[in-house]
Amino acid sequence: MLVAKQYRCTHSAHCICIKGHLSEDALFLVFQHLNWNPRLIAVMSCVCKWFDEIAKRVLWKEFCLARAPKMMLDLQSFGSHNIDGNWKALGKLLIYCTGSTKGGLFNNLSIPGHFVYRTRFSRTSGKSLLMPQCRNDVLYVSDPCEHLDQGDEGDIGFFRGIFKSFSVSRVKRMLIDKGAKFHPTEVCPYCKAKLWSMLQAKMIPRSASCRLGSYDEYVEYFVCLNGHMLGVCTLLPLSDSEASEVEA
Ligand SMILES: [Zn+2]
Ligand SMILES: [Zn+2]
Ligand SMILES: [Zn+2]
Repeated sequence: MLVAKQYRCTHSAHCICIKGHLSEDALFLVFQHLNWNPRLIAVMSCVCKWFDEIAKRVLWKEFCLARAPKMMLDLQSFGSHNIDGNWKALGKLLIYCTGSTKGGLFNNLSIPGHFVYRTRFSRTSGKSLLMPQCRNDVLYVSDPCEHLDQGDEGDIGFFRGIFKSFSVSRVKRMLIDKGAKFHPTEVCPYCKAKLWSMLQAKMIPRSASCRLGSYDEYVEYFVCLNGHMLGVCTLLPLSDSEASEVEA
């Protein structure tokens, strides 16, 4: 057994681990063995602040590295400093499609959020969502999560993503230069930070709808202060969109 040291839980009076905690190393090995199972990480962080802190600092990070190693390597490489402390948010972004609540970000849509088994994130797709003068920014974006036959709205796709080094990105500077306003009520579903509407800021290029296989030019997306993004588009009927497949 690896349970060497025990640390008394001094954070939460109601913690079940009154007699002390496992060592961090032991916990690491247990979760490694569980393949960084996100549900179990989430359950465990509810035990007490001690577990929550380790989940945020270590376990969600390992989860992200295991699920999307190349993307994480890139996000962490030179000049990227806004990711530490946000591993939990990023972990959720990898596996959770937020859907939409009526009266929320995407007005008329009411589609419940849900976990996604596996999603591909692409830098190339990200580029097509950026204005030409912002294309040096790095944005990873998911393939649209398809929600078909949404009544009058037709076929809907939700996509989500993250900017590398958002704090020093062109997009952020442009939003600020334009004096773009934050959404008055809604916050980022991943980190609770305030959101800018890229549609309102007129910063969604035409290339976005082509890349996403959308028509009608209905593409809308939001970016939060920490560089998470989420958006929605209408999807073309399948027969037409087959030609628009993208590479990673
Ligand atoms: Zn505890
Ligand atoms: Zn979805
Ligand atoms: Zn966020």
